[in-house]
Amino acid sequence: MGKLNVTVLRYLSKEDFRVLTAIEMGMKNHELVPGPLAAAIANLKAGGVHKLLKELCKHKLLAYERGKKYDGYRLTNTGYDYLALKSLTLRGSVSSFGNQIGIGKESNIYVVADEEGTPICLKLHRLGRTCFRNVKSKRDYHGRRHKTSWLYLSRISATREFAYMSALYDRGFPVPKPIDFNRHCVLMELVNGWPMTQIQELVDPPQVYDDLMNLIVRLGNSGVIHGDFNEFNLMLTDSGKPILIDFPQMMSTSHENAEFFFERDVTCVREMFRRKFGYESEDYPKFSDLVREDDLDAEVHCTGYGFTKEMEEDLLQEYGMIQQDTEQDEEEEEEAVVDDDEPPALVPANASDELNEYRRQLENEVSYSETKSSQEKKSG
Ligand code: ADP
Ligand code: MG
Repeated sequence: MGKLNVTVLRYLSKEDFRVLTAIEMGMKNHELVPGPLAAAIANLKAGGVHKLLKELCKHKLLAYERGKKYDGYRLTNTGYDYLALKSLTLRGSVSSFGNQIGIGKESNIYVVADEEGTPICLKLHRLGRTCFRNVKSKRDYHGRRHKTSWLYLSRISATREFAYMSALYDRGFPVPKPIDFNRHCVLMELVNGWPMTQIQELVDPPQVYDDLMNLIVRLGNSGVIHGDFNEFNLMLTDSGKPILIDFPQMMSTSHENAEFFFERDVTCVREMFRRKFGYESEDYPKFSDLVREDDLDAEVHCTGYGFTKEMEEDLLQEYGMIQQDTEQDEEEEEEAVVDDDEPPALVPANASDELNEYRRQLENEVSYSETKSSQEKKSG
């Protein structure tokens, strides 16, 4: 575990940023983005794009890969990290970077600092494979094929985590204060406490046991289940109060698998107390005891984070919370994979809706960063 390598944040130019963003846009529909398509999206003068692409590969922000029928560029983890950290920096949410403090199952965790120098926690979500060859293909609402790619999964994972954390924090649940998110990155309060995994002894085991079971019930009465409620996702403050973390896999109590995951969460706590603290109690909550008092599950869908039911299903599948595709989906998948052996069409500039849409999105992304950096220059 080391430092987050952010030196590139300083020396990359406006054009580099534009080309990197162009590859990100192209990857919404293609696993590999051919150089000419990248150039068309980036819409830069004088054909310097090839050189920029080469440089970005050298710094490992992009990778050039050979596909079955065509070759092209894709973002690397580092390239995607760069785009998100650049956005968070321009917004003023982060101003310096520190050490890695954790590796979770699906993430890397760092300590960074905000503009006041206060240490905060940065979580980079890492789901799925960066190699395109084994990526599953699915159809979205409109029947269009889309990839359950690492970019897509990591982004919804972070968005979902931020949405749930915000709803929980607003209701006074003991969770870190959410600060900001972009793409696959979430910024939150750094918890001042110990991971439960490192705790071998408790002053008052029955009290902590009750706190945890009450927390599970309170979540349930609000309409949600954590889904991974165990010692890896619980921290304890010095005064012995539990703080819950790690929310992308949360589920509604109305979900068809809700009872199973509720009981699994309860069992995790009982097992942990029996094994680590030699404490057992016959007093534990049942799913049937829950009384709906709130609609936290519904709220996260209405607050403009823009994730659909489909995205939720894709993510819960990735976290192993729901079953894999049905046979019919598998058939569609095969079809879709054959489809994508064809290179993306390269039509003349402005002649394609897809290209125009990419360019529109690209202008949105870069215009913000360009105004911000000229403001910074002016102010000093
Ligand atoms: P994953 O989804 O990969 O399991 P987690 O959110 O559980 O990631 O975080 C992994 C580890 O990082 C945790 O077990 C904890 O030790 C540390 N961690 C995560 N969030 C925070 C935080 N806000 N403050 C302090 N430590 C944290
Ligand atoms: Mg975890």
